[in-house]
Amino acid sequence: MPMLEVQDLTVRYGPLQAVRKIGFSVQQGQIVALIGANGAGKSSTLKALIGLTPAAGGTLRFMDEDITALPAAARVTRGLALSPEGRRLFGRMTVLDNLLAGGHGVRDRARLRRTLQEVYALFPRVHERRGQLAGSLSGGEQQMVAIGRALMAQPRLLMLDEPSLGIAPKVVAEIALAIERLNRDSGLSIILVEQNARLALRLAHQAYALEHGEVVRTGRGEELLADPFVQKAYLGV
Ligand code: ATP
Repeated sequence: MPMLEVQDLTVRYGPLQAVRKIGFSVQQGQIVALIGANGAGKSSTLKALIGLTPAAGGTLRFMDEDITALPAAARVTRGLALSPEGRRLFGRMTVLDNLLAGGHGVRDRARLRRTLQEVYALFPRVHERRGQLAGSLSGGEQQMVAIGRALMAQPRLLMLDEPSLGIAPKVVAEIALAIERLNRDSGLSIILVEQNARLALRLAHQAYALEHGEVVRTGRGEELLADPFVQKAYLGV
């Protein structure tokens, strides 16, 4: 049984249908990529999954529970976490306080301390900068903090919205490695939303291409990398 099952999800902003009856699933331990151009509906899908945007239709099942009507905080408690597009850090707070904000709902303090050490081990640069104001960090470092903050909530399913956006290629490679490690070493399930389709498809077990709010292609990451339609539309081949 999949850990997450999305059926007929629809998201509307007034008259605009940003997501149109999409369906996809995430199995335990998988990296699932959602690729597509600007405005395809990727972020709206993640926002509906975490509960920041209401679903105008459809059903969301997570860990065998219908979460469609649950508020965002309850979804986080159940194990969903989002690292949002544009990072959305508290720029005038320290890196450490940003990380701790991500774990504010976790009662087990010892576990929280362990997770903090795991985040530092994953991103040594975040450890070095832990006392600095988050707003003073480079874009890549801020992205690491944003992922770390989501990890502090102890998710079972981590959702990453455009982690490579506006970041230097060398740092993108570091972040990609961290995503792989989280999945391989900790067995964490991940939904990766990316405009950088090549990066996402290399990392993904399963991938879905979105256009105008609809799923237009699905397959294993390597299948879509080899698919002429995907190559032409998203990979510039
Ligand atoms: P991006 O990479 O730009 O985030 P995306 O694939 O994530 O693209 P969405 O951000 O989900 O796409 O946007 C899908 C559509 O919904 C677009 O037409 C966008 O302009 C519109 N949209 C997104 N958020 C809102 C909002 N809060 N109010 C109105 N329209 C919105």
